[in-house]
Amino acid sequence: MENIVEIKELNKTYDGKYKALDNLSLRVKKGEIFGLLGPNGSGKSTTINCLLSLLNYDSGSIKIFGKEMTPESYDIKSKIGVVFQDVAVFAELTVYENINYFCGLYIFDKTQRKQYVEDAIKLVGLEEFKKFYPKQLSGGLLRRLNIACGVAHKPELIILDEPTVAVDPQSRNNILDGIKKLNENGATIIYTTHYMEEVEQICKKIVIIDSGHVIASGTKEELKNLISTGEKITITIENLTQELVDKVSKLKNVISATNENETLYVIYKKGEDNLSNLVDFLKSNNVKYSKIFSELPSLNDVFLELTGKGLRD
Ligand code: ADP
Ligand code: MG
Repeated sequence: MENIVEIKELNKTYDGKYKALDNLSLRVKKGEIFGLLGPNGSGKSTTINCLLSLLNYDSGSIKIFGKEMTPESYDIKSKIGVVFQDVAVFAELTVYENINYFCGLYIFDKTQRKQYVEDAIKLVGLEEFKKFYPKQLSGGLLRRLNIACGVAHKPELIILDEPTVAVDPQSRNNILDGIKKLNENGATIIYTTHYMEEVEQICKKIVIIDSGHVIASGTKEELKNLISTGEKITITIENLTQELVDKVSKLKNVISATNENETLYVIYKKGEDNLSNLVDFLKSNNVKYSKIFSELPSLNDVFLELTGKGLRD
């Protein structure tokens, strides 16, 4: 498949000393929703800004659509839509006028532009707010406007830098659905976030970074296969005793068994029959349990096992 973005061994220091990117390499293929996942300060925005030639970097190479990107690459830039982490819209323009302005930077035909602006408004669900000014919008609606402004010209590559930070759940779902639609309509997406749930929800390919360095990449299944945790089983047991917790911790494939009051948490290595083995064990020991469920590891578990710390500070 065609590479839309190829970053090779990118290094970037701020103020000549602070290393924000450390030999970072990644590749985004055509048609992907590519997730760049990492905690705050890991270098996501720096990567995006280098990619867009908005920042100089020390060494490495960046190709977009197979070409070297420079600050003068207008032909490349017109095929990219960017939604920056900080909302950037005009306070004195309405929702409609803002989108029309940004779309007008690339789409000169008025009839076509009108259609594109309407499409963008529909995509983010701002139909009722066309005549509103930015200051009249809630945080979530403002973010949706910011996205509409970045994508209205129907670019081939769309880069969104943490578009859902501090938005309400309704706007968040609207934004994620909109991104999926843009992708279904043919756009390649680069999506940065520190929320692992979002990446699990929408991204086909994921790169996890920490301290400016790629620590793992792959599909979410591939990432989960990198770690020893295979599944996590949670059980509610009446009169749970320490003795039982200890016994469970010695069962086959169990990495650890811990409890909090009457809830037992069992972390298993990968295995076909972990849940049924545990149920059999509980039955043969006459243990009464109410709730029992098994979960696959999350990307947070992956991050935790690879770096020794959680994704959230
Ligand atoms: P992220 O987007 O993943 O939160 P950033 O790319 O913004 O991370 O930042 C990476 C690191 O570089 C952070 O430690 C941050 O403090 C530092 N940094 C970012 N921008 C600047 C800047 N303009 N000057 C100095 N340091 C910066
Ligand atoms: Mg950032």
